[in-house]
Amino acid sequence: MNIAVDKRNFTVGPVQMPYAVREIGLQQVPYFRTGEFSGLMLENERLLLEMLYASAGTRVVSLTGSGTAGMEAAVMNTLNNHDKVLVVNGGGFGERFVDLCRLHSIPYEEIRLPFGRGLVEKDLAPYEGKGFTAFLVNYHETSTGVLYDMRLICDFCERNGCFLVVDAISSFLADPFYMGEWGVNVVVTGSQKAYAIPPGLSLVALDGIAQERVMRNTCRSMYFDFKAYLKDGERGQTPFTPAVGTLIQLNKRLLDIAEAGMESVLRRTAMLAGHFRKAIEAAGLPLTIASDSLSNAVTPLFVREGKDAYEVFKCLEREHGIWVCPNGGELKHKLFRVGHLGDLTEDDNNALVDALGQLYQAGKL
Ligand SMILES: *Cc1c(COP(=O)(O)O)cnc(C)c1O
Repeated sequence: MNIAVDKRNFTVGPVQMPYAVREIGLQQVPYFRTGEFSGLMLENERLLLEMLYASAGTRVVSLTGSGTAGMEAAVMNTLNNHDKVLVVNGGGFGERFVDLCRLHSIPYEEIRLPFGRGLVEKDLAPYEGKGFTAFLVNYHETSTGVLYDMRLICDFCERNGCFLVVDAISSFLADPFYMGEWGVNVVVTGSQKAYAIPPGLSLVALDGIAQERVMRNTCRSMYFDFKAYLKDGERGQTPFTPAVGTLIQLNKRLLDIAEAGMESVLRRTAMLAGHFRKAIEAAGLPLTIASDSLSNAVTPLFVREGKDAYEVFKCLEREHGIWVCPNGGELKHKLFRVGHLGDLTEDDNNALVDALGQLYQAGKL
């Protein structure tokens, strides 16, 4: 069966991959219990820690599984039923952390945020000094396009002695992230977002405190037990067969990002997002940005009353060869999202704005 891949892809993942990454997909996948592959894994870890601005002694676990595998493994390995966890729940991905706590019997309370609103001081105030031991947050809640104020969160965690786990799956490499300076203990990332490589890899960074938690905890899973990953990782290996080909693609991406420099990579995404936001305004399209705290990764857009956001997604796909990111659940017909990750250009933005203009003319927007 042929699957269409000839679309301009503005989803949040998998995103368009640079040619250099796709080219590696043509190669044979090598045997991996070798010194050469260990060298590549250690290089990946070193480059990633640099890009995260991690503190000394931080380690990276390369887990084969999508981002959610990294989220679940982080919860299972670093938390237990003696914790009291505070979860920021501002949408689908915050809800996922809540579900994980419930499933793994970890005591938690959640901060439910109104749709599209960032976290502010008064949201945290009721939880000060209440004995919370850990804090779970998605730096960018991709389902609503809200980026949280990490300064606020880090200060809260420092004051309250909270262990901080951050899902940066859609924000790492799109928005500034300073793991060491912010005192983040665990960072979860995923390959199909701004890394712009195929799905199937979750890279999880653990600082020294997180590693101690891993060592003390009993993880009721063989595949997800970080103890084995940390031990084998010392020599650049993994306990089980990893996504070898994807790790080679990751290596290429990390080397290219290192060469360009983190600042230039972040600036590029910020410029692309800014260009798109200006262009829809200049075109006078009846779309409303649905977040008061935007990430560079995504622009969430409400359609007008009486118009159907899912129909917009379908029309763009069918008539214009463009994928935007539809929403699920209650927002399916009201909201769609435009991603700015991966190998996109201002020309791609212009093509999308053009297509949206045509939908407007046709009364569909
Ligand atoms: C994409 C994403 C995930 C992971 O989803 P998977 O489908 O498991 O890769 C988790 N959190 C956030 C914030 C995301 O954007």
